[in-house]
This record gives sequence, C-alpha cells and structure tokens, in this order.
Amino acid sequence: MRIAVARETEPGETRVALVPELVGRLVSAGYEVAVEPGAGRAALLDDQEYADAGATVSDNALHGAGLVLSVQPVKPEALRFCAPRAATVSFLFAGRHADEVAQRQSAGITTFAMEQVPRISRAQSMDALSSQALVSGYRCAIVAAGRLREFFPLSMTAAGTVRPAQVLVLGAGVAGLQAIATCRRLGAVVKGYDVRAAAAEEIASLGATAIDLELPTLEGSGGYAREMTEERAQLQRERLAPHIAAAHALITTAAVPGRQAPLLVTAEMVAGMRPGSVVVDLAADSGGNVEGVVAGSVVNVPTATGHGSVQLWGGANVPSQMPAPASRLYAQNVVNVIQLMTRDGMFDPDLNDEIVAGMLVTHPSLAAQAA
Ligand code: NAD
Repeated sequence: MRIAVARETEPGETRVALVPELVGRLVSAGYEVAVEPGAGRAALLDDQEYADAGATVSDNALHGAGLVLSVQPVKPEALRFCAPRAATVSFLFAGRHADEVAQRQSAGITTFAMEQVPRISRAQSMDALSSQALVSGYRCAIVAAGRLREFFPLSMTAAGTVRPAQVLVLGAGVAGLQAIATCRRLGAVVKGYDVRAAAAEEIASLGATAIDLELPTLEGSGGYAREMTEERAQLQRERLAPHIAAAHALITTAAVPGRQAPLLVTAEMVAGMRPGSVVVDLAADSGGNVEGVVAGSVVNVPTATGHGSVQLWGGANVPSQMPAPASRLYAQNVVNVIQLMTRDGMFDPDLNDEIVAGMLVTHPSLAAQAA
C-alpha cells in the first residue's frame, strides 16, 4: 500500500508529517512511501533526502494512495485521486472543519485525528499534542528571554551584581512546564500557577515556586482543567495581579479542552507591569489568555505610568517556528500510530482498539451507523 506525504498548504504551516529518517521504518514495514515535491522544504528537508531514504518524490504522490499523512488536514478535493476508502492521519480539530468532515464522511474516507489520541500511558509515544506543546513551551521561553532587555541569570561580576529576571508562567501543562524548565535553565527566578492542584508539585520539581492563590482546584475529567466561573476568574485575576506586576516576563499557556482560552490577564494588568516587560501568550491562537493579544503580532502596550511600554507577543502556530524538531517529533508520533494500525503486514486499524477508536472521526461504518 502507498503512504503519501502531503505538502502543507495552510499559510504559516512549515512542518511536514514525515521526515526522511523515518521513511525506512515504513518501507521495512512493507509500505511504499511517496512524497509531494517540496513537502519538507519549509522544515529544511530536501526532496533528495526523501528519495535517498527510499521514498518516491512525485507530484502524483496522492494518486492511488491508501493512507495520506499531513500536519493540517488535506482538503477533501485533494483526496479524490486516492485509493477507494483511503485513510488520512493529521491534526483535524473537527469543530473548525465541520464542512470538510461531512465531505470526507460522504466520500467514504477514513479520518484519524492526531489531537484525539487518548492521553493514556500506552499512547504516550503517539501523543502529538504533547510533543508539539513541548516545542511551543520551549519556544515561548526563548522568545521571552530574547525580547527582554535584561539578563535571565544572576551574574556576580567585578562590576557588581546583575539580578536575575523574574518570570511568571500561568498554566503548567506540558507547554507551561517546558517553559518553566527552560526559563530555569536560563537562570531566571520562576513562579508558576495552574488551577490543577497536581501542577504545584510539578512546578516545584523544576525549581520554580508554585503560587497558591488559596482558591479551589479546578480539576475536571481526564486530568484536564475545568472552565472558570466569572466570579472565580475575577478572584484569580485579583490575586495574581501583584505577581504579574512584579514579573519582568509573563508567559501564559492556559487552555481548557474544547473551549476558548480563559482570560487570565486584563489590559489593565498588562499596563501595570514595569516598562520593558514582556508578555508571551501561547493561547493567542484560541482567543488568548491576555486581553488585547493579537496572534502572530507584537502589540506595544503603554504602561499606566506613561513611561515605556510592555511588549505583548501573541503566538500563532508556534511549533511552526521550530519546524525541524517539531516535524521530527510529529513524524515519530505518526509512525507510531501507523505501526499500531499495521496488523499482519497490512494497514488494518482495529476499530475496537481504544487509541484507534479515540482517533477515528470519519469512516464508512460510521455512515452506516448514522443511517
Ligand atoms: P492544556 O493544554 O489543555 O492546558 C494547559 C494548562 O492550562 C493545564 O495545565 C490547565 O490546567 C491550565 N489551565 C486551564 N485553565 C487555567 C486557568 N484558569 N488558570 C491557570 N491555568 C489554567 O493541558 P495539557 O498540557 O494538554 O495537559 C493537561 C493535563 O494532561 C496535565 O495534567 C498533563 O500532565 C496531562 N497529560 C497527560 C498525558 C498522558 O497521560 N499521556 C499526556 C499529556 C498531558
């Protein structure tokens, strides 16, 4: 069976779903691999590297393919030359692509969504949300360090002592913990806050201080956070305000699955920070944790005192800012998914498997059930 690797078409998407070093894993599992020309170019991967690894590089890569790999979902019309009942593996976020999901279902395509890999131990090697959050968390810390016109570490020099930067990280899931770890490695003094009680221990284990706002934990099902009530949000903002005002750099990564990002920081709180401070909002793509943030832009917010401004950086597809490692990690997740779905040398996903069933969005059998 042919596995095709699609060239991404969404503006700003620089990742690729398969890297040359993993082509051999699929070839030795018995698959033919075909790659659209230029698929890896934005991730600095040359067509020749795919060819050297055993893939065919062709404009017709998707023709006759039984499985199509991509990062963003391939448009249904681009799948029309695939083999009958072809399958796709990509991020999907079905709620954002309802029409395309319906088209796929009526075309008999099987769609597996990488963001729906269950967060269970057996699926950890396939968990692309975590692998990409790791990249984002690291990147946010580096952006904050790069934009701040201060040292991150303490420096004791003959000319005097340089005090370390104070960094505050809100949201301590996969991305937030990686941001904390990176800021700590750079020598900053870091505080972290999350609504889940379990996060406090993880924040402390990285050498940061877990802030206790003396508010009830908001742990929901599956270890995820629950949405805040407006009353709780107001209290949280009031109690976080002094910590935010004291920070040189604020990094926000808070998310609630299936919801708009919670608003943690008002424009007034940003204006209350010291001149030259930096705010990095990873959640900008999904509404933002910080009022006034613009995904993909930097907004200079004047401080309340009228002296200087605060840089408010809004993340947009942050893993695409580090396309090579993000692609390697994503491709590893995808290849592990394919291995799970390969039985007796054939691509034969077991729809009763918890991971496969969790990822499944469209399938001919689902149309039969709906009828
Ligand atoms: P996420 O991206 O959904 O959210 C990021 C963080 O924001 C979470 O820690 C959440 O608690 C926090 N948050 C939400 N609302 C907030 C608010 N109002 N104020 C402050 N923080 C807020 O989360 P994630 O990084 O995908 O991980 C969520 C959980 O899943 C974590 O417990 C993580 O350890 C766990 N997890 C488990 C596995 C696994 O078992 N395989 C894999 C990955 C993550």
